[in-house]
Amino acid sequence: MTTHDPDRIPEGFAGMNITVAGLGVSGISAARALAGLGARVTVVDGGAGEKQQESARELEAAGIAVRLGDGETLPEGTDLVVTSPGWKPDSPLFAAAAAAGVDVVGDVEIAWRLRGPDAADWLAVTGTNGKTTTVRMLAAILEAEGLHTMAVGNIGTPIVDVVLNQGKDGARPYDVLAVELSSYQLHWAPSLRAHSAAVLNLAPDHLDWHGSMAAYAADKGRIYEGNRVACVYNVADKATEDLVREADVEEGCRAIGFTLGTPGPSELGVVDGILVDRAFVENRQKQAQELAEVSDIAPGAGPAAPHNVANALAAAALARAYGVAPAAVRDGLRAFHPEAHRIQHIAEIDGVRYIDDSKATNTHAAEASLAAYEHIVWIAGGLAKGATFDELVKTAAARLRGVVLIGADRALIREALARHAPEVPVVDLDRTDTGAMPEAVREATRLAEPGDTVLLAPACASMDMFVNYNKRGDAFADAVRELTAKDQ
Ligand code: ADP
Repeated sequence: MTTHDPDRIPEGFAGMNITVAGLGVSGISAARALAGLGARVTVVDGGAGEKQQESARELEAAGIAVRLGDGETLPEGTDLVVTSPGWKPDSPLFAAAAAAGVDVVGDVEIAWRLRGPDAADWLAVTGTNGKTTTVRMLAAILEAEGLHTMAVGNIGTPIVDVVLNQGKDGARPYDVLAVELSSYQLHWAPSLRAHSAAVLNLAPDHLDWHGSMAAYAADKGRIYEGNRVACVYNVADKATEDLVREADVEEGCRAIGFTLGTPGPSELGVVDGILVDRAFVENRQKQAQELAEVSDIAPGAGPAAPHNVANALAAAALARAYGVAPAAVRDGLRAFHPEAHRIQHIAEIDGVRYIDDSKATNTHAAEASLAAYEHIVWIAGGLAKGATFDELVKTAAARLRGVVLIGADRALIREALARHAPEVPVVDLDRTDTGAMPEAVREATRLAEPGDTVLLAPACASMDMFVNYNKRGDAFADAVRELTAKDQ
C-alpha cells in the first residue's frame, strides 16, 4: 500500500539554513537529523541555564550552532524555522519568520518530507483524549496481522528518527506506522497526508496555546487533509464529523463513524457486547462483521471503561481501513496492555476498588472515567488550566459517594460541587504539597463503602504538586499500598 507523494522533497534540506526553536527533546532530535542531512542548523532558546548549556556543548561538538538567551530574533539568512511543541504560535520568533517570508514547520512535517521511496504508510490519530491508548491498540492490532509497525508521534521515539532509520542497517522496514498527533504537531504539519486518520473527540483544551476553540478544532481537523482511504470520526461527537465534512480528501476516501451503540452502514459499533464492523464489508446495508468481544479489550486489566471501548473501535476502524483481518483486531486487543495511570486498577481492599486515572488531566477525560463507575469517591484537583467544572460535576453528581479535593485550584471544584451536588460530602484537604496524597487516600477510604470505587481522576494538571501526572499516579498507588500494609 506504499505510495509516492509528489510533494515530497527528498533532498530538500541539504544546504539550507535552518533555525530550530527550542533545545528540548524534539528540538535536539530535529537539529541532529537536519545537520546529518547537510543543513546548516542553528538552535535558539530563550533559556541559558545549566541544562541548556550542557546540551549546547553537545550539539556544538556535532557542528550545530546554538544561540542561548535569545529565543526571539530570527537568525540572519534563515530559510526555514523548525519549531518545538512548547512554543506558542504567537511567539515573536514566528512573527519575525512570517515577516521575512520564512516557513515555520514542526517535527512531524520534517518527518513527513523525509519519507523515502519505500516509506511506511501513516495511520494517524488525534483527539483531546485517548490518543496514546488508541495508537497503542492500533499498533497491537497491526502487529497481530503480522505487519511491522510502531506507535510513534507524540509518544516514544521522535518521529524524525523513526523515519530516518527506516530499513537502515538491514532492519526490516516498517510497513505502517500508528502515529499519535497532538494539535500542536498538526498545526505545524501542513503537507501531512495520512493513509487514514481518526479524530477521537473534541473538547476545550490547550486553548491558551491555540487562541480559540475554533483554531484548536481547525488544527485537529488537519489530520483528515488528503486522507486516501478513511476519515474515522466519533458518531457521539458531532464536531469530529464536521471536521471530516470540511476536509479535502482523495477521491474515494470514506467517512467511517464509530459508536458505542448499534452501528449504521459505514460505521463500527457494539451489539450485545460484540464489536461489529458495518463499514469494511461487502454489503454494508445488509452485512456486519464480528470483530471481537468487548471483553477481549485488554482482558488482564478488568472490565473496559466505555471510553476505551470507543478507543478500540477507532483503532479497529483504522486497521480495517488498512485491510487488516477481523481475527487480528481481536488478537491485537487481547494483547494490548493499557499504559500506567490510565484507568489503572491498583488494588481492591475491603470491597473498595482503587483506580489510578492520573492521566485524566482535563474535565473531558475525567468525565469519561467518572462515567465508568457506579459509586465513586473522587479524588480531584490540581491546576485547572482555565477550565470550569460545572458541567463535569452536574454529569457525575449522582455517582459521587464523596469527594476529596487537593491542589491549587480545588476551590473551583468545591464551588461547582456546592452548586450542583450540595448533598455530597466533600473533604477539602487545603494542601498543595506532594505529601498530601496519603492523606487524600485515607480520607477517600473513610468515605467509601464496600462496592465503591476510589477514583483518582483529577480533571486538572499535576504540576502544582507533582513533577508530572506519572508521579501523581505513583503517589496514589504508594498511598494505597500503605493502606494494605497497615491492614496486615
Ligand atoms: P492522550 O494521549 O490523548 O492524552 P490517553 O490515551 O493517554 O490520551 O488517555 C488520557 C486520559 O483520557 C485517560 O486517562 C482517560 O481518563 C481519558 N480518555 C481516554 N480515552 C478517552 C476517550 N475516548 N474519551 C474521553 N476520555 C478518554
